[in-house]
Amino acid sequence: MPRYEYRCRPCGTTFELSRPMAESAAPATCPSGHEDTVKLLSTVAVAGTASAQASAPAAGGGGGGCCGGGCCG
Ligand SMILES: [Zn+2]
Repeated sequence: MPRYEYRCRPCGTTFELSRPMAESAAPATCPSGHEDTVKLLSTVAVAGTASAQASAPAAGGGGGGCCGGGCCG
């Protein structure tokens, strides 16, 4: 069962809950009983996602393909 991390806004406590993935978006109550909590990103999903954006194709030059088709000269 995956673990999710939540942060309580009233008291600032960060706590973890083990719950089914289907209930990951369900409201979580902090150990002190506050219900105003936000779900944090899991530590599993945070690592190594920065490189995914670097692989975007470089647009510019060759977009129209004109000079490659022999119509430029
Ligand atoms: Zn709290």
